[in-house]
Amino acid sequence: MCYNIIVGSSAFCREIEAFVTRRPAIRQLSERREESLSPYAVKSRLSKGRLRDEEPCPIRTVFQRDRDRIIHSKAFRRLKHKTQVFIAPLGDHYVTRLTHTLEVSQIGRTIARALNLNEDLTEAIALGHDLGHTPFGHVGEDVLNELYRPGFRHNEQSLRVVDILENDGHGLNLTLEVRDGILNHSKSGSDVLGDGWGEVNTLEGEIVKMADIIAYINHDIGDAIRASIITERDLPLEAVKTLGMSHSQRINTMVSDIIDSSWAASGYDKIEIEKPKITMSASILEATNVLREFLFERVYHMKSAEEESDRARDMVSRLYHYFTRHEEGLPSEYLTYSDNAERRVVDYIAGMTDQYAQRVAAGLK
Ligand code: MG
Repeated sequence: MCYNIIVGSSAFCREIEAFVTRRPAIRQLSERREESLSPYAVKSRLSKGRLRDEEPCPIRTVFQRDRDRIIHSKAFRRLKHKTQVFIAPLGDHYVTRLTHTLEVSQIGRTIARALNLNEDLTEAIALGHDLGHTPFGHVGEDVLNELYRPGFRHNEQSLRVVDILENDGHGLNLTLEVRDGILNHSKSGSDVLGDGWGEVNTLEGEIVKMADIIAYINHDIGDAIRASIITERDLPLEAVKTLGMSHSQRINTMVSDIIDSSWAASGYDKIEIEKPKITMSASILEATNVLREFLFERVYHMKSAEEESDRARDMVSRLYHYFTRHEEGLPSEYLTYSDNAERRVVDYIAGMTDQYAQRVAAGLK
């Protein structure tokens, strides 16, 4: 191909024409490759589609396109300034909502690839799952849930972000499979795979749900040790003996166990399976739940009782009460996202980063 092209010249047009004619149908090639995935994998070609129909991309499958839309969204960029557990920590190595999201994506993709499921769908769900998280982590979420009468849950807000709030109120128009995975990634019960675990309608979504837990259990232990709240020796001994003595060993044990147990449960050597599932073996599941329970008792409850959490609660509460009385203070675009005044305030506050919330709260009269 000639690279010395003058825009608008007939030579340029001929070059473009030749390139388009020669280029293979790239998306269709990718879709064809997906035919070699597990029969239980969601194939992008068979997606149930978007809220609004669109011309397909010539290069990317629908799930690859969803992943890219999420990465380019403003809500995704803001994750870097949102708390995971530790509010505005001074150290550089604490996990943020963004690094958590990337870990969930990496763990999820590893499991999806090993189970021959759709890695692109898994990645898109993982990157979008926490887009609706409030500032100050679950502290902010709890306050909005108390104040806003219909209730607030970050997974529902994540769906609202991709369906409505992003792209100047037009949403990202993602596929049904990615939207389902985002909405159903969180659980209401206490134990992993226990009561209240809930269901996602794809195995790729189930993978993200497990990957989310693997990521936070392990990085929150690391952060709690970093903050000197616990030491390695405080970790429940039996659970650590089962899962591994180091951070990387524990992740590896959990990930490998999910791969082995899910293969066994879904029967790659069996002919007919009623319902394949993403699961864990009894012993690894028990150790994982013990570790998670330990984190709640020794880290999350303790962090939530700290003064900085009280300050964060107070800030979110003041923001809510101020803007429900002074709607004229909302950025103008938020006025168009809902007919309900309280909903508009919740959308605004939920989208704030920790720093932005602090700045706005400090400026309230
Ligand atoms: Mg998460």
